Parts: sequence; C-alpha cells; structure tokens
Amino acid sequence: MTIFKKIIDKEIPTDILYEDDFCIAFNDINPQAPIHILIIPKKEIPQLSLSDENDSELLGKLLIAANKIAEDHETKDAFRIVINNGAKAGQSVFHLHLHLLAGRPLSWPPG
Ligand code: 5GP
Repeated sequence: MTIFKKIIDKEIPTDILYEDDFCIAFNDINPQAPIHILIIPKKEIPQLSLSDENDSELLGKLLIAANKIAEDHETKDAFRIVINNGAKAGQSVFHLHLHLLAGRPLSWPPG
C-alpha cells in the first residue's frame, strides 16, 4: 500500500485542501514552489501509463479539480500541472498524482 492510499483512507492525518467523490488534494510535504499541491484519484492507479479508456472520466475530473484548486488559491491564470510517469521520469510514489505548481515564475523547459 502506498503512502497516498493511507492518506486517502485517513490513516495518516493530512490537511485535505479539496475532496470530491473521485479525488483528494493536499500540500506536498516537500514543496517545489510556494503553491505545490498534489491531486490524487481515490482509485488506485499506480501511474498514468497504467490507466486506460475506463479511466477517461476520472482523468478529466482530476484536471477539472486542478482548475478549482487553482482558483481557490487565486492562481488560475498561472499554474503548471506535472505528472511524473515512471521512476526514470521522477516518480517516487506509485499512486497516480498531479502536481499543481504555482506562486513563482515557472521556467521552460522543465528539468
Ligand atoms: P513523484 O516524485 O512521485 O512525482 O511525487 C511524489 C510527491 O509526493 C513528492 O513531491 C513528495 O514530496 C510527496 N510526498 C511523499 N510522501 C508524502 C507524504 O507523506 N505526504 C505528503 N503530503 N507528500 C508526500
């Protein structure tokens, strides 16, 4: 079981910033920007590449949740969504999650 599943199950107390039937969101423990929020589906999908057509609605809901969360944090006009897929791409927790980054200039290309 991943640490994120324990957060979903409320086994690990975490300040939940947003929750609906499909997902929850909370601050990253090691923030890379003034706003660094993780948005995770309640369904256990280890990584994006293991999702399929049956997850289409869920994947859309995650992005719509990101919009709402960005609006709540008054940064709807400037934020970045990152999904690290696989260890070589920087994924360290194998429960699909979106990083919502904002609150500072975000350069391109990313590292
Ligand atoms: P990944 O590297 O898999 O894309 O992102 C995992 C993220 O989860 C990292 O940014 C890391 O700081 C964060 N993280 C890992 N463990 C915990 C935890 O127990 N609580 C919170 N809030 N974030 C965590």
